[in-house]
Amino acid sequence: MFPSNSVQNRARRHIGPTLALLALVSWIAGPNAGGSGAASLKESGSPSEEVLFTSSQTTLPGKLHPYFLEPSRGGIREVIADKYKKRYQQWKHEFLSTEAGRRQWQVYAHHPHLVLTITVSPNNSHGGKTGGYQWDGSGNMIGATVTLGDRIDQGYPDAVYYPVTNALALLESFGLVSANALAATKIAHELGHVNRTATTGIALYQLQNQLIPVYDSILLVNGYDTLDPRLIELARQMGGIPAEISVEREYWAEANALLYLRERISDKRFQRSLSKKIKENIDLCDTCCGERFLQIAQSQSLLP
Ligand SMILES: [Zn+2]
Repeated sequence: MFPSNSVQNRARRHIGPTLALLALVSWIAGPNAGGSGAASLKESGSPSEEVLFTSSQTTLPGKLHPYFLEPSRGGIREVIADKYKKRYQQWKHEFLSTEAGRRQWQVYAHHPHLVLTITVSPNNSHGGKTGGYQWDGSGNMIGATVTLGDRIDQGYPDAVYYPVTNALALLESFGLVSANALAATKIAHELGHVNRTATTGIALYQLQNQLIPVYDSILLVNGYDTLDPRLIELARQMGGIPAEISVEREYWAEANALLYLRERISDKRFQRSLSKKIKENIDLCDTCCGERFLQIAQSQSLLP
C-alpha cells in the first residue's frame, strides 16, 4: 500500500537508525548478481511465454481474460478493464522478466486455496492497495485483492515508508529506469503485502487492524501523548505503536520489491547508487531502524 498517514508521521519516535551499507550492497547484489542480467531497468526482456504464467492453463496465450476459479481452488484472478489491459500486460511482463517475479507468480497461480485477485483502478493512480483478505476456519488465507493504480508507472512514494521504490527516482534521473520497471516494482511491493499477511497469524493481524484506529483516536484527543497508559497498553497488545506496525508492513513489501530489483539491476555502479539512496531513505526514518529493514530483506520466508 502507498498511503499517507499524518497521525503515524506525528507519532514517530526516535529509536536510532543505523544501517550496515556494505551489508545492504551485498544483499542487493545477491548471490547471482553480476551475471548476464540487464545493466539497467531500461531494458525489458522480449515478449515470451512468461506472460502465460497467468493463472492457469485455461488462460489463452497473450490474453488477459479473467480466470474463473473452480470452487475450493486457488489461483490468480485478473480482473482488468479493457482500457487498462495493454499497460497491465506490459507491467506484468516486466515483473515476470525476473526469476523472483516468475517464482512468486507461480506460487499464487498454482496455490491450492488462496485466490489472489488483481485489478486496476483509477483511484490512487500512482499507488496500489492490497486488502480484501479472507481466511478459512483453519486460519489459512484464502483470498486477497491487489488493486493497482492505473498509472503506477509514474510517481514515487514517500522515502521513509518506501525506501526502495522511492530510491528508483534517483536512477530515473539518470535515465536508467523505465516506466514499466517502476510499475513492476510497485507490483512486487503489493505482492509483498500478500506474502507477509499470508504468513502472519490472522489473530494478530485482525487485532492490529481493530486497535490501530482506537489508538489513533485516543492520540488525536490526548495531545499526542504517547505515554498515555491507555496507548501503552494498546501498543503492548498490538506488538507496537501504529507507526511501527505500518512501517513494519511496508518494509516487508519493500523488501519484496528489492527482490525484483536486485535481478533487474546487475551493474554494480547502479547497485551502489541504489543502495546508497536506500540507506539515505532509511536514515530518514525515526520510527524504526535500518537494521530492521535488513532483517526483513534478508528473510528467506517472503513467500507463504
Ligand atoms: Zn504498501
